[in-house]
Amino acid sequence: MIEGMVITIDGPAASGKSTVARLLAYEMGLQLIDSGAMYRAVTLLALEQGVDISDTQRLVSIAKFVGNNLRARMEEGARVKIFIDDRDITEEIRGAAVGKFVSPVSAIPEVRIQMVEAQRSIAKGGGVIAEGRDMGSTVFPDASLKIFLNAAEEERVRRRYVELLEKGKKVSIDDVKKEIEIRDFIDSSRSASPLRIPDGAIVIDTTDMSVEEVIFSIKDLITGICHT
Ligand code: C5P
Repeated sequence: MIEGMVITIDGPAASGKSTVARLLAYEMGLQLIDSGAMYRAVTLLALEQGVDISDTQRLVSIAKFVGNNLRARMEEGARVKIFIDDRDITEEIRGAAVGKFVSPVSAIPEVRIQMVEAQRSIAKGGGVIAEGRDMGSTVFPDASLKIFLNAAEEERVRRRYVELLEKGKKVSIDDVKKEIEIRDFIDSSRSASPLRIPDGAIVIDTTDMSVEEVIFSIKDLITGICHT
């Protein structure tokens, strides 16, 4: 039954959705759609090619290219590697420049149309966990289970800060806070598929929860729908 399912996990920056979606996909043998990585890949290529944010036509052609050529590979230990053709872009798409420009790029409706098409095509056979901002609201409104993960802003900033420090990045907590606030603002206020709680979604506040606890409660919900 799980093989045919589409499970969506949406939420704001650093709400824990990427970690949770990745681990759940690994443990349950489901395909992961990391839609943030797709928007990040478009932004990376646009930056490399010097494309201006106002050049919708070129951004759309990059989005089409990413839609056709991006691959996510789940590796041992639930590590996900992101490739454009043979090029490993896993680290680059998490860089500061991409972080700064990804929300403005994602707010362009024509870019979103390309990404949505690619996401739906990946999910055709079902057996998918899709994580992002609009997975349950726009891309998969008929998903079997919709989750919205949230956490207090202070905790989200703390998590992202620790994550960056662990990766050896030199950042200040104020910069992390600023980046998260700006991204949340753009993602929630844009006209095309703004970040919001999708109709029918179950909201989980992860502020005081461990990753294991969040995974446990989502597995519980999945078991529940498998038995209805
Ligand atoms: O999830 P992640 O932090 O990698 O997402 C990066 C950015 O991509 C978000 O801040 C948002 O601007 C954009 N995004 C989006 N829609 C999605 C997933 C991500 O607009 N479904």
